[in-house]
Amino acid sequence: MDIIERGMKMQTSLCAICGWDFKKYYSGGDICPCCGKEYDFSDCLFKEEILEKYCSDRKKIHSIAPEIDDTDDEEEVPRDVTWRFLRLAWVKKGCPFKWGKREGIENWTIEDAKKQLSVIGYKYDTLVRLAEEIID
Ligand SMILES: [Zn+2]
Repeated sequence: MDIIERGMKMQTSLCAICGWDFKKYYSGGDICPCCGKEYDFSDCLFKEEILEKYCSDRKKIHSIAPEIDDTDDEEEVPRDVTWRFLRLAWVKKGCPFKWGKREGIENWTIEDAKKQLSVIGYKYDTLVRLAEEIID
């Protein structure tokens, strides 16, 4: 992966993983208060790390991310794919708001999470089904 992609600046204020609105552009090093993931850190994953942390079964990986079938285990996986695994893992945990208090979030519910995900184009029901393939 090249430097441009590593130092990627998001041209959106919405977390690509959970849909939280940072209310500003974010970039590498920024941590989402909702899903708790750090850009350019939590989302830098080699295929072997996906296998280890998220999905040990190659058939299941295929059902989630067929585009990395031919990626070597020692190769870094594109960000849009790592975001997909991080998103599914978050959904599998029940979409918890990691630092809700700090953000003034009082009663975070799964309905809020569903709305947030729909803003970035994801249907919760679809994700929850796919999340069954993810390691607990
Ligand atoms: Zn997030």
